[in-house]
Amino acid sequence: MTVLGAIEGGGTKFVVGIGTPDGKIEDLQSFPTTTPEETMGRTVEYFADKGVSAIGFGSFGPVDLNRQSATYGHIALTPKPHWSHYDVVGHLKRYFDVPIGFDTDVNAAALGEATWGAAKGLNSCLYITVGTGIGAGAVVEGKLVHGLTHPEMGHILVPRHPEDTYAGKCPYHADCLEGLAAGPAIEARWGVKAYELAEDHKAWEFQAYYLAQALMNYILIMSPQKIILGGGVSKQTHLLPRIREQLRTLLNGYVHHPAILEQADQYIVTPGLQDRAGITGSIALALQALEDK
Ligand code: ADP
Ligand code: ZN
Repeated sequence: MTVLGAIEGGGTKFVVGIGTPDGKIEDLQSFPTTTPEETMGRTVEYFADKGVSAIGFGSFGPVDLNRQSATYGHIALTPKPHWSHYDVVGHLKRYFDVPIGFDTDVNAAALGEATWGAAKGLNSCLYITVGTGIGAGAVVEGKLVHGLTHPEMGHILVPRHPEDTYAGKCPYHADCLEGLAAGPAIEARWGVKAYELAEDHKAWEFQAYYLAQALMNYILIMSPQKIILGGGVSKQTHLLPRIREQLRTLLNGYVHHPAILEQADQYIVTPGLQDRAGITGSIALALQALEDK
């Protein structure tokens, strides 16, 4: 039986697991992200007796995904202490002589959703996480989008809500989308945890306003067949109808498609794989690596 290894490498925690080529997860474990040596050490230890045929790694970014590059599989320059330039794929290769699929965490989740989740059967989708940060992964024409480095869709600029005076939390751009609408920005703006804000709080009006603008931009640029909203903040499911409505207002009839005009509740959705989009996506990365071998 083919056993596939999966790693969802986040900035705060790592999830490791094994699964089967049909996307079923058989075992999971998680531990906090500390130093690369310790965290990758625990990862290697986990897989040591699992007999994996391939490993998929969806990583926090930025990462080098260019296979022609000397630093392919490394974490790129990051404010996260100790991890800049760390060779995560190289570390795994020292211990496991199997194909390794490597991509961003959000690309992994997008691939998972396209293979077994909400976008199954479609050849394009966008997976957005709104959590500690904002990021998005995209499948276009059946393939994950990489490009020069990889997309960083969380850092697009969006016009401010006229009543929003919060400066923004992104260390690079202050009031980019992530700086205005990720969990930590909501919490810094209002001084309480995002999950403590009542459904009728102004915070959610701002949130729908910013996310609808982002979705409009992504739709205009990429025209995905499905948009999947994941991450902790998206657990506020009352946001989705507000985002759909705001999006319709912003588009103002310009993208004339029934998916947006009539079936928006099927177009902008939560992950079909629920909280397991990322780790199941890493199984999909492993499977892809095995097939590409
Ligand atoms: P990460 O992005 O680190 O992988 P999450 O996707 O869980 O993790 O995002 C964490 C952020 O989401 C935090 O800012 C947290 O306060 C916020 N969050 C988590 N759960 C909820 C919830 N149910 N409602 C609103 N915000 C939430
Ligand atoms: Zn930014």
